[in-house]
Amino acid sequence: MSRETGKLVITIDGPAGAGKSTVSKALAQHLGYIYVDTGAMYRAVAVLARNGEQPDPLDEEVLEEVCSRLDLQFINLNGEMRLLANGKDVTTEIRKPEISSLASAVSAKAVVRRRLTNIQRRIGAAGGAVFEGRDMGTVVFPDADVKFFLDATAEVRSLRRYLELKAGEEEVTYEEVHQQMLERDRNDQSRQLAPLKPAADAVVVDSSDLSIEEVLRLMLDHIAAS
Ligand code: C5P
Repeated sequence: MSRETGKLVITIDGPAGAGKSTVSKALAQHLGYIYVDTGAMYRAVAVLARNGEQPDPLDEEVLEEVCSRLDLQFINLNGEMRLLANGKDVTTEIRKPEISSLASAVSAKAVVRRRLTNIQRRIGAAGGAVFEGRDMGTVVFPDADVKFFLDATAEVRSLRRYLELKAGEEEVTYEEVHQQMLERDRNDQSRQLAPLKPAADAVVVDSSDLSIEEVLRLMLDHIAAS
């Protein structure tokens, strides 16, 4: 909790497709807090690394350079959240499937994690924020006021992501999405730095058979009781 504002830091970690974004946004709105999508930050780094002049976006020097001049801004444009990376609107580009895989690879790099962890802690210093990610409760905010770990089976998560991509008119099959999901889970859980896992003091919620409203209710009850 921020001493100045008395507002909480709430973290929601979990694998892709567990429903974190929808729930985090709704929770932030309900509490009058800001919502911080930290996955979007890793995706933005992936976009910048890929769009540079060097052919290998995972090259340490490329990533050092990207991180040293990284400027990320979330702006609210007519009620819609947009992400600007070094002044360029990358909101649409960061959602492409190839950026999902690259973001997962980029996020294993120490220089990237260090830089983004700093930015995230600065945003969280005033409290009043819901942070969504993989390592929010374990590494970035070990003293967060309330921590959740939102999970669901790989099949349910793949189906949700597939339907999302189809709605955005991406040409993908369920099988491709499912394979990519399993690969990302493996990368995120097995990496040395800040691997995906629930914090010891996180409340674990399985959203496989729950609606968004049910998950939200559960979280609000927990926040009220803590
Ligand atoms: O949440 P999203 O799927 O947009 O995140 C993209 C990638 O960024 C994830 O696969 C994960 O590897 C990485 N990530 C991370 N730590 C976070 C948020 C995202 O490593 N806090």
